[in-house]
Parts: sequence; C-alpha cells; structure tokens
Amino acid sequence: KKKIAVMTSGGDSPGMNAVVRAVVRYAIHRGCDAFAIYEGYEGLVQGGDMIRQMQWGDVRGWLAEGGTLIGTARCMAFRERAGRLRAAKNLIAAGIDSLIVCGGDGSLTGADLFRSEWPSLVQELEDTQAITKETADLYRHLTIVGLVGSIDNDMSSTDVTIGAFSSLHRICESVDSISSTAISHSRAFVVEVMGRHCGWLAVLAALATGADFVFIPEKPAEVGKWQDEMCNALQTFRRLGKRKSIIIVAEGAIDSELKPISAEDIKNLLVDRLHLDTRVTTLGHVQRGGVPCAYDRMLATLQGVDAVDAALASTPETPSPMIAINGNKINRKPLMEAVKLTHQVAEAIEAKKFAHAMELRDPEFAD
Ligand code: ADP
Repeated sequence: KKKIAVMTSGGDSPGMNAVVRAVVRYAIHRGCDAFAIYEGYEGLVQGGDMIRQMQWGDVRGWLAEGGTLIGTARCMAFRERAGRLRAAKNLIAAGIDSLIVCGGDGSLTGADLFRSEWPSLVQELEDTQAITKETADLYRHLTIVGLVGSIDNDMSSTDVTIGAFSSLHRICESVDSISSTAISHSRAFVVEVMGRHCGWLAVLAALATGADFVFIPEKPAEVGKWQDEMCNALQTFRRLGKRKSIIIVAEGAIDSELKPISAEDIKNLLVDRLHLDTRVTTLGHVQRGGVPCAYDRMLATLQGVDAVDAALASTPETPSPMIAINGNKINRKPLMEAVKLTHQVAEAIEAKKFAHAMELRDPEFAD
C-alpha cells in the first residue's frame, strides 16, 4: 500500500487544514495510507510520533478551521544535510516515499532540494548500515508535490495562493469596521497591511473597500509629488461629502528614492497639511488568522485532491510539480521553475527594478 504524507510549513495561512483534510481523505479514497508530519520540517527531522497515520475521522471538521492544526515551524536543522539525512531515515522508517508540502517558496525550495538529494541520502543510510540494501532498493525515489499556502499571493506561476482571499476578506472586514467609526468622527485612518514584496493584498483591499489612496512596493510613490496627489484626492472626496478618509499602506511601501513610507509618515502629513484627525491602525496578525473563506476551502480541496493524483502519477524522471490555479483551472507547474521565478521577482523588487518585476510576474499585464 502506498504511503503518502502531508505537511504544512513556513508561515501559516487559512486553508492549510482544508489541504490536510483533502489529502488525507482522498489518499484513503485512492487506497493509500495517509500520514501527517507535525510541526513542518522539525517533525520530519525529529521523527517518532511527529509522523502520524491519519484516518478519515481524524480530519473531521478541519475544512473550516483556521491556521494549521498539525503545526508549522521554522527549522534550521533541515537547512543542513545532516538534518535532511535524519529526515530521510525517519520517512523510510515510517514507510513513506511521497511527501506533499504546503508552504511558501522557502518550504518548497527545501522540499525540492530534499528530493534531488534523496538518492544520495538513501545511499549514505545504506553505506552506514542504518538501513539494509533491500530497504534502500525500495526507496530510491522520493516523490514531492508542492501546494502553495501564503496569505500574500506572492508565488509566481499561479493566480492565487491558498489563504490569500481569506486574508483579503479579513482586511476588508477590518476596514469596514474602521470606516464606521471614521465616518462618525469624520476621521482619517491609515491602515497598514501585510506585503513586503507584494502589494496584492493592499491593492485589492483598497479596491474592495473604496479606499482613498494606496501605497505598494511595486509602484513607488513619486518623491515631491505623492504628498500633493494624496492630499488633493482626499480634499476632493471630502468636498464631495465623504466623511471618512482611508489610506492603505503595504508593509513594503516605498517612495521613488527607495525610502520606506510608513503609516506614521502619512498620518503626520494629513495632520499637518489637512488638519485631519488621523489614526493609524496596523492590522498585523489579524490578517493571518481566522476561518478560511469559501474560496480558500474550495481551492485547498481541489488542489489537495490534485496533489494526491500528482503524487500517484509521479516518476523519477518528471520534475516535482507545484499545484497551481491558472484561469480558474487547477494546473500543475514545475515546482522549481515557479520558485525560481518568485525569487527573481523578489530580487527585482529589492533591486528596485519594478518594471522588470512586473514583467516577470505577468508579461501580459506588465503595464
Ligand atoms: P515559507 O515556506 O513560508 O517561505 P520559510 O522560508 O521560513 O517559509 O521556510 C520554511 C522552512 O523551510 C524553513 O524553516 C526551513 O526548514 C525550510 N527551508 C527553507 N529554505 C530552505 C532551503 N533553501 N533548504 C532547505 N530547507 C529550507
């Protein structure tokens, strides 16, 4: 019987439990044994009861649970070969040779490295007599399938990552709450949202809440101009009868001289120039937690099912797949190409080559 394990790794995102539920149940449906690795790569390195067989009923109710119930962790040991050797030994001891990893680009990079190194890890275990040759012969290949769990929607080659729409929804609810109190007092609010390299949450939240102005990493605000532009916009809206002003700032927002623009800077400007009663709200981890929205439950389920199919179809010759969604269709992409492209986008943004970053992200919509 084929044994398939699922783990969640890196930053948590709403929908990860729905992934675990889908993988466990569909693996059982396909006649496999399903396992969960607890605490991300930490559990893989530690082994023992961190690797647990899961039955149908073990994931009951997980579809609507936020965060990840099997835990996640940052694991330094897995970054070293010695840690990955222990991880390989633990997987073989549990009889597992298929691993479905749900995480961000770091987790997926680690997973692909683990697979490429796997034959040499198995050889080393055999050479040091940690396993017999017969066992080694059964485990010459490791299957890896990646699923992207991230609230930032920052992975290339897929339209949406698991958790992004839940986070967006949470931001919208928070801005709605802020709006009603802002209207009562005729106040301005500067709301800081997550997104160091990716302004997706900020832009879509601004769109969905009718915010007055938005700052993102990919489009630096022009020095000497943005202040007037923002103040004029706010004044125009106020003249038209608007009693609130909402400005959304991504964590990674910058100006054209590449200096960070903070919520505090914006607030000070609004107080000094427009004499608006202005408050700053940093949403922080509220954006990450809570129940997954319907879209993330659906995405996690469809992608979890496809991940099991992909694991069962995998051969040593095919590159590890990442389960994506493109144009509303669940799709498989070569995992390392997607990760490489994601790193190139982040590097381009760090190097302030924004046009290049946008082109890499989506050539069709580069302008
Ligand atoms: P995310 O998956 O959200 O991007 P991290 O970058 O923190 O989060 O990665 C999560 C874990 O994946 C790390 O703690 C580490 O154990 C593992 N990992 C990340 N990058 C690598 C790598 N290059 N080699 C091996 N393991 C890695």
